[in-house]
Amino acid sequence: MDVLVLGGGPAGLQLARFLKGYGDGDVYVYEEHERVGLPQHCTGLVSIEGLRKWIGVGERGLVLNRFRGARFVSPSGKVFLARRGSEVAAIIERKLLEEKLYEEAVSAGARVLLGARQTLGGFALSVRKRGAIGVIAGGTGFLSVLHGEKREFLLPALQLDVRVEDEVGDTDHLYVFLGEKFSRGLFAWAIPLEDGTYRVGLASRGNVLLRLKYLMLALSRVGVKVVKRLRVFGGAVYTGGMVDVYAGDRLFLLGDSAGQTKPTTGGGLVYLSIAARALSDAILSDRPEAYGEAVKRALGREMHVQLLVRKALNSLSDAELDELFQALKEVGGEEIVASEGSMDVQSAVALKLSAKLFLSRPTLLASAALKSLAF
Ligand SMILES: Cc1cc2nc3c(=O)[nH]c(=O)nc-3n(C[C@H](O)[C@H](O)[C@H](O)COP(=O)(O)OP(=O)(O)OC[C@H]3O[C@@H](n4cnc5c(N)ncnc54)[C@H](O)[C@@H]3O)c2cc1C
Repeated sequence: MDVLVLGGGPAGLQLARFLKGYGDGDVYVYEEHERVGLPQHCTGLVSIEGLRKWIGVGERGLVLNRFRGARFVSPSGKVFLARRGSEVAAIIERKLLEEKLYEEAVSAGARVLLGARQTLGGFALSVRKRGAIGVIAGGTGFLSVLHGEKREFLLPALQLDVRVEDEVGDTDHLYVFLGEKFSRGLFAWAIPLEDGTYRVGLASRGNVLLRLKYLMLALSRVGVKVVKRLRVFGGAVYTGGMVDVYAGDRLFLLGDSAGQTKPTTGGGLVYLSIAARALSDAILSDRPEAYGEAVKRALGREMHVQLLVRKALNSLSDAELDELFQALKEVGGEEIVASEGSMDVQSAVALKLSAKLFLSRPTLLASAALKSLAF
């Protein structure tokens, strides 16, 4: 039975690569662009642990910078420092990641067809006609068509690579800005790259351009002075949690198409790699239908807790966000994150901090919980 994969992004290529040794048929990946990795949408921030354990391609040439933590900035300028003792995050060259995955997929035996656009209907039909296994790994566009109810969690994003004035202080931290002026539904970010440049951007409902201007002002207030814009790119970030991975008989969803991104940040590279491994294991053991349960086991609880956190954050006013920052600092949140924080498994720390907030700010927590349930 052949495996047909719609989409040669990181999800489709990871799956093709993990299917090395599949002997029951051929693996075909259909990618609409003539080259993999372009156009780039993504920031490329991943945990170092996730990069090594799950993404699993050689790091040579891939990592642009490494970080020990992040400065989260509240609407009124309060800073919550999430910092570990060693480097925990990396920003990677996204195009190169996909090129590496492509090479590995091809050497694993997959046929990656470039410039091969598929329609959803045409793809489903050929899966059926050929008696194949079909995998839709075509990104958020397919999620929005197949799961329209999740559209409110798809946020337009805009980002820029910029040159900054020489002296910008330490570059082993990135910035995350919260509040209505930066984003409705997520946050804005500023990430130092290797050589006097930053990648800055935001994802938001509403006016993204206006918010980008505000981000530039906020950056200069924290000492990051932009002197030149180098390139602009963007896309759609998804934060609404996992959807059912079954799209029909022997037709499965993977990656952004399946909502396999972190609801707290929209990051998808580590989770789609975990999901691609679950799907390849299911196919290799001749039980593709086991993928749904396997991916729920691997990511379900974590993503559920993160979605509650996302909904709660989305429901808070700027004043409440400021109060939350204050409260988190008072209950020792920075120390807890310093010793137990993880970019990919956030639920344990989230639950611990919620328990502490319940004791110190029960009204704030109850209000966020109630509003998030109504969201
Ligand atoms: C602005 C932004 C910033 C982000 N930052 C991060 C980050 O810092 N860290 C992180 O982990 N994640 C980040 N993400 C999320 C991450 O980019 C995605 O989770 C990841 O790219 C999803 O991979 P995918 O293969 O599922 O989908 P995609 O990357 O969208 O790939 C889908 C592929 O399918 C192809 N395709 C689409 N339609 C068709 C068709 N009809 N026929 C054939 N081929 C088709 C596309 O050309 C593409 O190559 C970000 C996303 C955005 C938009």
